[in-house]
Amino acid sequence: MIKTKIFVGLILFISTVTIAQEPLVFQKVTIQPGSKSHFKIPVVVEKDSTFIPVTVFHGSKAGPTLGITAGVHGYEYPPILAAQRLNEEIEPEQLSGTVILVQIANVPAFLGRSPFVNPIDGKNLNRSFPGDEKGSITQRIAHIITTEVIAKSDFFVDMHAGDAPEDLYSYNAWYQSEALPEVSKKGREMALAMGFDYSIIFDIPKERLQKPSIYCSQEAFHRKIPSVDIECGRLGIPGEIETQQIVQGMMSLLTHLDMWSSNSKPNSITPKIIAKRSTVKSKSTGFFYTEKKAGDLVKRDEFIGYITDFFGNKLEDVTASESGIILYMIGTPPINKNDTVMNIGLLP
Ligand SMILES: [Zn+2]
Repeated sequence: MIKTKIFVGLILFISTVTIAQEPLVFQKVTIQPGSKSHFKIPVVVEKDSTFIPVTVFHGSKAGPTLGITAGVHGYEYPPILAAQRLNEEIEPEQLSGTVILVQIANVPAFLGRSPFVNPIDGKNLNRSFPGDEKGSITQRIAHIITTEVIAKSDFFVDMHAGDAPEDLYSYNAWYQSEALPEVSKKGREMALAMGFDYSIIFDIPKERLQKPSIYCSQEAFHRKIPSVDIECGRLGIPGEIETQQIVQGMMSLLTHLDMWSSNSKPNSITPKIIAKRSTVKSKSTGFFYTEKKAGDLVKRDEFIGYITDFFGNKLEDVTASESGIILYMIGTPPINKNDTVMNIGLLP
């Protein structure tokens, strides 16, 4: 009888111990439960150097780890501004689990006001994953994010917006593959919990999983981590509405993952799911004129705009390849042959 009691007591003791939150070691710094720490992870290549600003929120209660990246493209401001606000919103005392938040993945692009690429080596960070420890500065940034953030995450979100020339209607997207049904399902649930009007499926064929991921969020998926992309904001504008939408989306996600208990109602938006997209390419180089904008609904073969040469002579009319919603389109005049003029989401 006494032995049984001791045994039961021992089990209770063990289960209490496993639920309690342990301190976390990140970059050789110990972070106590219920606190947060800021890091500037150095990235040095010969004469070039930069750093990656990262905040680790270590919750007072145990739970999963959510990795978040902003500023993989340094000219996409709403996600970067949203990350700054998450510093205030996420209280480690109230958090279950851990959030590893990359404030700006690409600091040289941010400070250099450089769309798409890191001005130091001219590389696009979101084409550089999983990165290379001995590569150029962008490849090393990718490697550090892969090893220090993505590899430590149970769930992952990469936050983007329309870059300088990109008009964009806000959406999020999740990765799915028939090779990873459970991971895909969790990614879908994450995306749908975030309150965007549209959620897109990034369908990844089985063979593609064997190749380098290329994209930041796809690296997480290749590692069997449920992974979501946000695209919120347009034309490089630091928009307040989009910034708020991202903050709210991330807090809804934390609630969905049982990492955060919120008194506010969960968002009631049921996103429209887009499984197929159609791309319109330009056939010529010059000026692109349009009166359309992202979010407009178009019909197949509808006139969208036109392209002229450098003397104002019309070269081609641009028409919609399918009926649907314009998710993305070029929003500024320069156009090159074979550029993606727009991406149309086919509505269910
Ligand atoms: Zn981007």
